[in-house]
Amino acid sequence: YEFCFQKKFGQNFLIDGHVLDKIIAGAGVTKDDMVLEIGPGIGTMTQYLAEAAGKVVAVEIDRNLLPILQETLADYDNVKVIHADVLSLDLEKLVQEENGGRPIKVVANLPYYITTPIIMALFEQHVPLANVTVMVQKEVADRMKSGSKDYGALSLAVQYYAEPYIVANVPCNCFMPRPNVDSAVIRLTRYEEPPVQVKDEKMLFKIIRASFNQRRKTLQNGLNNSSELNFTKDQIAAAIAEAGFSPSVRGEALTLEQFAKLT
Ligand code: SAM
Repeated sequence: YEFCFQKKFGQNFLIDGHVLDKIIAGAGVTKDDMVLEIGPGIGTMTQYLAEAAGKVVAVEIDRNLLPILQETLADYDNVKVIHADVLSLDLEKLVQEENGGRPIKVVANLPYYITTPIIMALFEQHVPLANVTVMVQKEVADRMKSGSKDYGALSLAVQYYAEPYIVANVPCNCFMPRPNVDSAVIRLTRYEEPPVQVKDEKMLFKIIRASFNQRRKTLQNGLNNSSELNFTKDQIAAAIAEAGFSPSVRGEALTLEQFAKLT
């Protein structure tokens, strides 16, 4: 097919069957499930998913992979390939159309450049989800698992929405071409009830994003400079004081509970 790997699409294809078995088992895919696969590549994991799931919808951005997928998935009548940028899709509508609005499972060897936006979008847009099982950079998986805030808004979104579990560590030689870093598969199982309660969840995440957009700045400046929020300086200062934080506190120092309180 004269296919060339495209770095800009994060194309590192899995070439290790054991890892594929672990991912499918870790995601707990059964014939009752519809699975959304983000970035099927040449369809290696898609075939495993098609064997295990009732239905697979695979979204691939690179048009050069479409003829290859047509060949590698020809034997499966339960797979639908959609040519699109997953970040531009209305995923809630997709789940409505393809699974009658019932919760789906997401399984993906994610292109690293979309790790944060896609995980945030899946949870924040309230796409009906049972779990999300994704290959990400090992460092990112470890931070999601430990709740470390070095990875900013993503770690807090994971704490708020899901229970994390590391399914497998995957060394870089399991891919072609080899990435520079090791990877890990993490499963995020959606909570029925979040661990903290807020009146306005969208506001919570606007505040969290604003706090992490400008690291090393004070919380007050971060919130003031956010394009998503339009409070006055005085309102922000008053809210920070009322929540019991110092005026010079930095956003990255706050826990999820403290962000909820401020919200
Ligand atoms: N699933 C395959 C595997 O495990 O070998 C390929 C994984 S590769 C890391 C990432 C895949 O996602 C590539 O096929 C790439 O073209 C695709 N991709 C990258 N950005 C995308 C986007 N925004 N929307 C949909 N697919 C994307």
